[in-house]
Amino acid sequence: MQSDVIVIGSGIGGLVTATQLAAKGAKVLVLERYLIPGGSAGYFQRQGYRFDVGASMIFGFGQNGSTNLLTRALQAVNVSLEVIPDPVQIHYHLPNGLNLKVDKVYEKFLQHVTAYFPNESQGIRRFYDECWKVFDCLNSIDLLSLEEPRYLMRVFFQHPLACLGLVKYLPQNAGDIARRYIQDSELLKFIDMECYCWSVVPAEMTPMINAGMVFSDRHYGGVNYPKGGVGQIAQKLVEGLVKAGSQIQYQARVTKIIIENRQAVGVQLANGQTHRAKRIVSNATRWDTFEKLLTQEQFSFGETNWQQRYQKSPSFLSLHMGVKAEILPKGTECHHIVLEDWEKITEPEGTLFVSIPTLLDADLAPAGHHIIHAFTPHWIDEWQGLCAKEYQVKKEEAAWRIIDRLEKIFPGLNAGLDYLEVGTPLTYRRFLGRQDGTYGPIPRRKLRGLLGMPFNKTSIPGLYCVGDSTFPGQGLNAVAFSGFACAHRIAVDLGL
Ligand SMILES: Cc1cc2nc3c(=O)[nH]c(=O)nc-3n(C[C@H](O)[C@H](O)[C@H](O)COP(=O)(O)OP(=O)(O)OC[C@H]3O[C@@H](n4cnc5c(N)ncnc54)[C@H](O)[C@@H]3O)c2cc1C
Repeated sequence: MQSDVIVIGSGIGGLVTATQLAAKGAKVLVLERYLIPGGSAGYFQRQGYRFDVGASMIFGFGQNGSTNLLTRALQAVNVSLEVIPDPVQIHYHLPNGLNLKVDKVYEKFLQHVTAYFPNESQGIRRFYDECWKVFDCLNSIDLLSLEEPRYLMRVFFQHPLACLGLVKYLPQNAGDIARRYIQDSELLKFIDMECYCWSVVPAEMTPMINAGMVFSDRHYGGVNYPKGGVGQIAQKLVEGLVKAGSQIQYQARVTKIIIENRQAVGVQLANGQTHRAKRIVSNATRWDTFEKLLTQEQFSFGETNWQQRYQKSPSFLSLHMGVKAEILPKGTECHHIVLEDWEKITEPEGTLFVSIPTLLDADLAPAGHHIIHAFTPHWIDEWQGLCAKEYQVKKEEAAWRIIDRLEKIFPGLNAGLDYLEVGTPLTYRRFLGRQDGTYGPIPRRKLRGLLGMPFNKTSIPGLYCVGDSTFPGQGLNAVAFSGFACAHRIAVDLGL
């Protein structure tokens, strides 16, 4: 098959690009280095457990508005997924007894926060209401390529106020807006954590556009878990892709993007095969794309600038556990954030993320058992250069430190362990093909909101990037946005 477009990688960003283009009649070839699709939204099975590799708090599955991009991406290729609504986004276990649940119902959430900070009741409402203003702007327009002038003009004439609102918020960060309304230092730390747990930077460095999306959509479309596990999203997108007449190849690792006359025209695989197409899209991170798939001379000035603004976030240490059901106290929620000391929020093994997806979909584990996925930031440097024995010992020590912390919330966890698999930044690098196993780009210093994030076109004609190192950043719904935008820009370029 002669392809119109080649997509390197089948993460959610790559698959949304591919399916959107296939739905418009393009012939797309997706090349995936691993055995299954999904990347960070993939899964693996062990002893009757089906574990999510990473993501499990999923936005974008709402039914209304325009920000429900995962629902829309599936619909575009005539597939669908059953999802299970999660009534609580996160149960926070924070320092000084700040023990708070983020209820799906907005007013309940505000009440819970206000109960801890009664003197700040007005400021709390004004901050989160301002997040809604951002969300309402986003949710009233079709989210497509901001690099397409005719689309921008059309949206502006149809929704001038929403567009002006977005222009206003684009260069702003959530922390600055929070500080406008809130004085209490502990409440500001809570808002840092509200941001950190998905942006991996504190509020003052978290773009307001992203904060507006997350802090409002959790009460609007809500957090929904796909029946059968997060891996189903990618599986379904692939099903739709193939139904629409396009293709995916697994174990197809791209080692080089072929450039002729300064234009991207094809790719070379590790097995020596080459494929050509009119347009090439890379769903690998920008570091992997520009430092590994292109030569030094092709690395552009724009990319150097980007790397001066953004750095790789840490990777994670993760524990995938199978546990006896009785260790979970009644009323346990699916997602938890644990932190004992505010000073350690951004440190390795500071913030601990916990997901228990079997509370929403019991079929992911053998009867009478649950999955607990616990992960915490870790840098790859600490794990390199160890011999096999040292690596094993270090992994075990780290795992028991995490289990000890979790025992305080789930007493009996240690005794109730049925299965344990520990992953390190080396594991993330190996299985996800992401440089240093990074979660994605984070600002090196305080930047002006999202203004510095690159869109999909690159300095090399014919080559586009999609996924979490492009606008608007990490998270499944965010990379789906990037996929919609990338496909839109390419469709216009190809006249589809
Ligand atoms: C532990 C963890 C927890 C997370 N939790 C959440 C969450 O709760 N909610 C949420 O929304 N998000 C979460 N995220 C973030 C989210 O998973 C990612 O932002 C998103 O999945 C990234 O998608 P992507 O399309 O950019 O790329 P990736 O998922 O990285 O996919 C890229 C794909 O490209 C393939 N590839 C790379 N290089 C090549 C090559 N040379 N040749 C061929 N194929 C290649 C890779 O194998 C991979 O399949 C989490 C991430 C992690 C790691």
